[in-house]
Amino acid sequence: MSFINKLSRGIKGAAQALKADEYEINGTKIQCVHCGNHHFELGEAQLNTAGLTFLNLDWANESASILACKKCSHIMWFAKSAKRVI
Ligand SMILES: [Zn+2]
Repeated sequence: MSFINKLSRGIKGAAQALKADEYEINGTKIQCVHCGNHHFELGEAQLNTAGLTFLNLDWANESASILACKKCSHIMWFAKSAKRVI
């Protein structure tokens, strides 16, 4: 393989890593329930609220993953951390 080819592949790899926006939880790739898209914006939110404590849901008092679909903007919440798919 020529140097140019290697360089080109390296640049493509870096670009793909930058726009890696697919996630999984428990080994299952996350798909938008509304439009079927696989590309998300990841955010996190604390679930440690008085409401959850009152409801005896302290097990959920962790940070949640919030995934906003890049296509239709549907937002999905997961109590576990989402892993980025590379
Ligand atoms: Zn969507």
